[in-house]
Parts: sequence; structure tokens; C-alpha cells
Amino acid sequence: MKINLKALSKKELESFVKGPGLPQYRAKQLLHWIYGKKAESVDEITELSKELRAKLSEISYISNLNLLNRQTSRDGTEKFLFGLEDGESIESVLIPDVNRLTLCISSQIGCALGCRFCLTGKLGLKRNLKSHEIVDQIIAVSRLIEPERKITNIVLMGMGEPLANFDEVVDALWRITELMGFTKRRITLSTAGIVPKILELPQKAPPVNLAISLNATTDAVRNYLMPINKKYPLKVLLDTCRKFPLPPRGRITFEYVMIEGINDTPEDAKGLLKLLRRIPSKVNLIPFNPHEDIEFKRPSDKRVLDFQRILLKGNLTAFIRKSKGQDILAACGQLKAKYTLTSNVLSRYP
Ligand code: SAH
Ligand code: SF4
Repeated sequence: MKINLKALSKKELESFVKGPGLPQYRAKQLLHWIYGKKAESVDEITELSKELRAKLSEISYISNLNLLNRQTSRDGTEKFLFGLEDGESIESVLIPDVNRLTLCISSQIGCALGCRFCLTGKLGLKRNLKSHEIVDQIIAVSRLIEPERKITNIVLMGMGEPLANFDEVVDALWRITELMGFTKRRITLSTAGIVPKILELPQKAPPVNLAISLNATTDAVRNYLMPINKKYPLKVLLDTCRKFPLPPRGRITFEYVMIEGINDTPEDAKGLLKLLRRIPSKVNLIPFNPHEDIEFKRPSDKRVLDFQRILLKGNLTAFIRKSKGQDILAACGQLKAKYTLTSNVLSRYP
């Protein structure tokens, strides 16, 4: 069986090149071509002689995501459906904004955490993605878009809970920053709040931005919306955030999906102010993106604005994330990645 070079770590590549009797520096060269220059095949590595490429191609290959579908929303948001080597599929969403181009990538196929408002959660977990499958979403989209468009920001907010696939996600973050040269501060990892892994993150991963999906201001409501809260309740989660090492002027982003009649009252807004006291934070209010399989409703615009106003009055930075890509189910919580394409990362893209 041929070896997939993209899946190897630096160490593994170093022992791989020994096989055909190549010097160590070839490992670094291969990594540079695969991740830095985004080569899709051994043959594209033109720095190697034709003979060497032929020799390597006999024993190895470079895997690539297989584009199955590409949809563009009226607002310019694009959703990519990619097939993996084992026939599973994942989605990535590209969100253009005034001066940034954000790619939202998936970390798992499905998700085991079962949040009530999230379509990915309804799927359950199918499997974890390997680190190269996580990074490959960036490589594939970069190659698919026009060369003058450059991805400026990466968010791990697609399908899956990144911290439930900790080792592969950490490895992917190293590849994205070290091998692809992506700026750490332009990468955001979003979690539903797996406390022990939040604590481990600064020790193991490059210092990327942290986002917490908070979505409630009391344990009762959060338990109902996000079962993970029963294991790591609000106090434990927020104490962990308070201790999270941040760079100067760094802040933790708190995502708050607003659902009519569940967590959208002025009392909730005041509760949120209290909870986030003494945490350098900013809040992203995400009006719930409805889907026929989920019973919740989106609050009125006025309700969302009133909520935001209370936060702003309390000196908390709070943005309302306009929902993007809803017509193609690319918004927050809408990513589901079926071959039939009823997708679900789009429900999360506000
Ligand atoms: N599992 C991680 C990352 C993926 S979810 C997490 O939960 O943080 C990314 C974001 O989409 C989360 O903030 C989640 O609260 C939000 N989201 C999920 N379903 C949504 C929906 N239907 N409408 C709006 N936002 C949603
Ligand atoms: Fe999983 Fe995040 Fe969806 Fe919750 S919101 S089910 S953690 S993907």
C-alpha cells in the first residue's frame, strides 16, 4: 500500500525518507511542498528530479480532499462539501467580509455533544478527523478560490467539537501555523466548554484565540441546551476562562446563540454581564438559525438589539453576527454534510 505523505508527522517523514536512502533534509523539503506550497501530487514537487519523483510516486502519494459540491449564497458565503478517502464527507464555509476572508473548518464528522439547537449535534459523532484532514480544508479552499483572494482568518467552528478531538486538532494547529505560516492570532478555536482540555490547550497548542459557546446564563438553561454543562457547569467553565492565559489586550470570545423565549430576556443580558465580570471578553450574539428539524425560534430583531444594548451599557463589547449563507444552509448549526447536501455548517454562519 502506498504511503500518504500528507498524513505523516515530521518525525515519520524523516524515517520514511530513509527507506529509499534519501538524506534527512528531504523530509523538510517534502513538508514545505505539501503544506507550504500546497502540492497536490508528488509530481508537482518540481524541486525534485523527475527520477526521484517517479521513485517516490511508486511508494507514496499525497491525499487531497475531493470536492463534491460548492454552493454560493446570495450574500457571498460559500459552502464546500468535501469527500474524504473513506467516503465520509465534511463541510467548510468561506465567509467574505469587508477586509477579511474567513474560512470555517470542521474538526469532526458530526458531534457527540448533542446541543439542542445544533444540527451537527443531531447527527451524533461519526468519527474524528485526522489532523491532515482538518488542514486540508484550508489547502483545498485556497486552491479552489481565485488566486487573488487569500484566506485571512481561520475559525474552528464547523462540524464537531475541536476539544473532543484534542490531539489531532492540536497537531493541525501546529501544521497551520508552523508549516503554512498562518498567523496564530487569526485563528480561533471554538468550544462548548470541555474544561480539562481548555486547561491543557495553552500547554500543548500554539496560542490561538479561544471562543466559548456560552448560550445561557443559568445552569438550568445551559443544562437543557448543552448537556456538556452537567459535567462542566458555568462556574467551573468561567473560572477556567478567568485563568486562561491571554496576550496583552487579548480577549476570550463568548458566543451566545439567541433563542426566542429560552435565553433572550433582559435578565439574561444582565446575568451575562455578571458572569463575564473580570474576564477580558467580547460577546458575539448569534440569532438562532432555524431549521425544520429543530423546534426553536429566532427572536425578533428588537429583542436582539435590546439584549445587545444592555451589554453595551454594561461596558461589554457585543456584536450581533448577521447570519450568513442561510439560503444554502451554511450558517451556524446548519452543517450536516450529507452527500445529498442538506447542510449544517451554514446554519452556524452568522
Ligand atoms: N463545537 C464547537 C464548535 C462548533 S459550533 C462549539 O460548540 O463551540 C460553532 C458555533 O455555532 C457555536 O457557537 C454554536 O453555539 C453555534 N450554533 C450551533 N447551532 C446553531 C444554530 N442553529 N444557530 C446559530 N448558531 C448555532
Ligand atoms: Fe457539537 Fe458545537 Fe454543535 Fe454543540 S454546538 S453539538 S458542541 S458542534
